[in-house]
Parts: sequence; structure tokens; C-alpha cells
Amino acid sequence: MTDIPSRAAQVLQEVFGYAEFRGHQDEIVAHVAGGGDALVLMPTGGGKSLCYQIPALLRPGVGVVVSPLIALMQDQVAALHEAGVRAEFLNSSLGWAEAQAVERRARAGELDLLYLAPERLLTERGLALLDDLPLALFAIDEAHCVSQWGHDFRPDYIGLSVLAERYPSVPRIALTATADAATRREIVQRLKLEDARLFLESFDRPNIRYRITEKDNPRRQLLRFITEEHAGEAGIVYCLSRKAVEETAQMLADQGVKAVAYHAGFQAADREARQNRFIEEDGVVMVATIAFGMGIDKPDVRFVAHIDLPKSLEGYYQETGRAGRDGLPADAWMVYGLADVVQQRRLIEQSDAEEVYRRVAGTKLDAILGLCETLQCRRQYLLEYFGEPSVPCGNCDNCLEPPVQWDGTDAARKLLSCIFRCESASGYAFGAKHVIDVLRGQRTEKVLERGHERVSTFGIGADLDEAQWRALLRQLVMLRLVTVDHDNWNVLRLAAESREVLAAGRRLSLRQVPPRSASRRRGRPVVAPGGSSALLNDAVFQALREWRRAIATEHKVPAYTVLHDSSLREIAQQLPQSLAELHGISGIGATKRERYGEQILQVVEAARA
Ligand code: ADP
Ligand code: ZN
Repeated sequence: MTDIPSRAAQVLQEVFGYAEFRGHQDEIVAHVAGGGDALVLMPTGGGKSLCYQIPALLRPGVGVVVSPLIALMQDQVAALHEAGVRAEFLNSSLGWAEAQAVERRARAGELDLLYLAPERLLTERGLALLDDLPLALFAIDEAHCVSQWGHDFRPDYIGLSVLAERYPSVPRIALTATADAATRREIVQRLKLEDARLFLESFDRPNIRYRITEKDNPRRQLLRFITEEHAGEAGIVYCLSRKAVEETAQMLADQGVKAVAYHAGFQAADREARQNRFIEEDGVVMVATIAFGMGIDKPDVRFVAHIDLPKSLEGYYQETGRAGRDGLPADAWMVYGLADVVQQRRLIEQSDAEEVYRRVAGTKLDAILGLCETLQCRRQYLLEYFGEPSVPCGNCDNCLEPPVQWDGTDAARKLLSCIFRCESASGYAFGAKHVIDVLRGQRTEKVLERGHERVSTFGIGADLDEAQWRALLRQLVMLRLVTVDHDNWNVLRLAAESREVLAAGRRLSLRQVPPRSASRRRGRPVVAPGGSSALLNDAVFQALREWRRAIATEHKVPAYTVLHDSSLREIAQQLPQSLAELHGISGIGATKRERYGEQILQVVEAARA
């Protein structure tokens, strides 16, 4: 018998078709396959599944996987079947007879992996089944669901401590993408993992490119982003409200984008149908509120767009993390503007939550505003927030096109005094548009009516355009030097701290916004999905996608469980002409080679002709 690491490498290649382990996968697999307990913290898309799937194949007996999400279980089992692995699930979607058949196969030693919903496992019948089986391991997926303080709390997860008590000699591996220390401690304690080895993977997602731009016309900006950079590709667009979701989806559909709306207002069955379309069809754009996304492990989501500001960096990280799980280049793209800041602050102020909660929410909002305004590398800022040191990444907008730092003190003084002058001239306050008109010396009807062409700040800001003034104002609001009174037509008021800038010599180092005329079209980012896509034969790639769709329909599984886009791309680049040449294409193990190899070669040959 050979040693564990080389057997693990062999299974990785032969069954899953991958040449190398990622990150700590190899150590985790070796540790668990050798009988050790483990707690694995890895970002979404990091490759958690293989950490228990391979040890389950290496050890005698059945690997039992506890997972809270039925859809996810089904997709995983479908993908395992495609790879030729003997896996099944037991959850409420199965009829009595089907469940019995699965149990029978488990007892007969015909399964390597059994996925179980926690409530199912904890029944007498579930435990009796486990008592009868030789057990390879327990994997507890989405382990943060034991945390009563987290937003994914599942009471059944608490009961999983029974695994340690009842099956002390069976190795247990708990996995989660939730990184914070408090959750980690709770998992250890509740699942009795005090002796487990901790594997902490970097939370960086290097293939995701972070970009945050000034919001000017969000829907037009979104449409341009999708059509110019991601035509025909799958993506998720997050909006704050249900209404915005529906309108945005409609707008995209009118413009020929395959867009689907999703929010909690749709009936459960309807939601499921919409979600399935996104998962199963190629190139669907899901426009959704944050109700969408938990448990979606579609690997080829090429972009996540936010047209409204998320409430926190935790949310932003989780939502953007749904892009690019396959490791290919993906975009996290966001537009934001003054209205977002005002709206989010208002939501917090108007919520009837307790004072402590509102303070926490305010701090979280400031942290994400900091990400939007930072001159530093976005990724570095993000990782620092999660406690991970890093260096500038070279793959975010700030790294690629460094923003200009600007001493905005003089401009800020002009804006602040203009707010003050207008108010004292008329005896009441004005909104952003009017104040900027006065600054820029615009003789609008309202300016003339109020006699504001005579205030001393009239026309002193003609050197900047309207967008630049708005950007400055947004930064002043963010810094809490100006407040927006949303109970009164969003009029602007000076905060007490503004005196530090007006009188006390406080300097402001800000992000410069180029004039509107100069900021038009900066061209597409340099790297296209797939990296070396110049060498990709597109006709072959499209033909492969069609072929894959036919197989997926026939097997009634999502397309990506047949083969990932990344595999199709590699084929369309290398144009293999024999089964031997197919060997080494990522994601094609022995079973898939046997099952699909000939067909793939034929598709390639026909399409390249
Ligand atoms: P997670 O559960 O951590 O979000 P998954 O286990 O679903 O991530 O893996 C994410 C993607 O990465 C999957 O498509 C998987 O097939 C792929 N993957 C995992 N490990 C490897 C590897 N060593 N080499 C290539 N691809 C991998
Ligand atoms: Zn960067």
C-alpha cells in the first residue's frame, strides 16, 4: 500500500482530473485521511469539497457529509456522479421509497459518500443508519450554521455535537467560509473540535478584480459594463430594493440581456425556478436583492455587480465572492454615489433598532465607504479589515489606474462656505444641486429668484464641473463635515466639524475626480477571462458549450457539473486530436474521459473545420 499523499494525488488526477492541490488542500486531505479532526476556514471557491471528498475515497467506509442546503447537496451529488463517484443524498426532497433505496445501498457498502440534512441525521432512524455503517469520516459543511449570532443559524446544527460523543473514533472535518474569530470559537466549542487541527486559508481571491466607480447613471453604466465586458456570460447584479431589482432586470431584458429577477417577494416555487434557470442555463444575469446567493456554488459566475452600496464589508465580500469560483478572471464591479451614502445613513437612523445596533451599523457603513473612497489598493484594504496583511495586488482599479490624491482643502472651503452663504442669505437651507449651481455661477431661475447671484460665493467654483463638485460633496458627507437632512428635501447643513476646515486649518487629502470630459471610456481592462484567450478557438468553444448543454439536459443536471467552462476553454485552446491529448486537461478525470472523450474529440474536429 502506498502512502497517503501519493494516493491522494492519484485520486485528484484520476477522479477529479486536477493536476495539483490548491493552498492547504493537500495537508488537509492527508490529515483527515490519516484519521485526524480538522477545522477548515477557506474562502468561497477555495475548494473545500475536495478536502473531505478525497479522504472519504481514501478511507474505508462511507463519508457522511452534513449540509444545510438541499439544492447544494443535489448539485454536489450530480457532479460526483459525473466524475464516477458513488454518492447519494438523503433529504426531504426524496420520497420514502427513494430514501429506502439509498439506505439500502449504504448498508450494502455501495456508497463512498452520503450527504445528509442535519435534521435527518438527528432522527432515530438517521442515527440507527449511521450505527450500522462503517464510517470513513464526518464532514460538517457550512459549519458557521452552529453560531447563534450568525445570520445563517440552524438550530439543528447544535445537535451535531452528538457525532463526537457517539462516534469518537470517526474523524470529523468542519468547514466554513466565515472567517471571524468569534464564529471559529463557537464552532470549536459546539462541535467539540478542541483537538482538531486548524487550517486557515488566505481569504484573498486573486482572480477577482475589484472596481468601484462614480455612480452617474447606474443602469446605463451597468448595461455598458455587461455588454462591453461580459456579453453572454453569467453574472449577478445586486440591488437594494425589490423595485430596483424588477426595473433593472426589465431594462436589461429590453436591451437583449438574458436577465432574471429574484427577491423574497416571489413565491417559493417561483424563486426556485428562477434560481434554477440561473444555475442551469449558460449566460444568465441574475438581478437580485441579497436574498439571493446563499448556497449557490455555480463556478462560472463571471461578474458580481453592485448598483447600490452594500451595508457592510462582510456583505460585500460575501456577495462578490460568488464570482469566479472556478479561478478564472472575474469582476467585482460597483458604482456608488452621494445618494447611496445618504440612503444608507437614513436607513440606519430610521431603524427602530437599539442604539448599540445602530452604532455598529454606522461603523460598518463607514468601513465600506472607506473602501469606496480609499486611494490604497482595494484588496489590501479589504483583507486588512479581515485581519490579513497583504501587499498591493495589481488587480484592482486603484492598482491598475492609481487615483490622484488631491489636496481638496480649498475646494472644500468654497463648498462649505457656499452652503453657509446660501442659507444665511435666505434664512433656510438648500440642496446639492442649487449650492453647486451657485458655486459654478449658473444663473438658473432658482438662483435668480433667490438673489443668490449676489452672494459672495457665486461663481467662485467655475473651475470644476458638476460631477467633480458632487464627488467632493460626497466625500465631505462621508467625512461627516456636511449632513444631508433627509427629512427636509435633502438640504445640506454644515456639521460642527466643518469649522475645523473653514477656520482651523484642517487639510483634506481626497480622491480627485477627473473632469467629466476626461473620464469617458478608459477602454477595457487588459486581461480577458481565461487569460490567454487570444489563442482560444471561439467556434470550438461555442460548439463545446452546445454539446455540454445537450448532455446536461439529457442527464438533468446543471451544465457545470458535466464540465466547467475552464475545461472547455482549455480544450478550445489546445484542440486535442486524441484521447491521449485529452489527458491533462483540467477537470477531466478517468470517468469523464471514458464517457465523453470520443464525443469531445468529434465536436472539436467538426467545429475547427
Ligand atoms: P468551496 O466549497 O470552497 O466554495 P468548491 O469545493 O466548490 O469550493 O470548489 C470551487 C471550485 O474549484 C470547484 O469548481 C472545484 O472543482 C474547483 N477546484 C477545487 N480544488 C481544485 C484544484 N485542486 N484544482 C483545480 N480546481 C479545483
Ligand atoms: Zn490592488
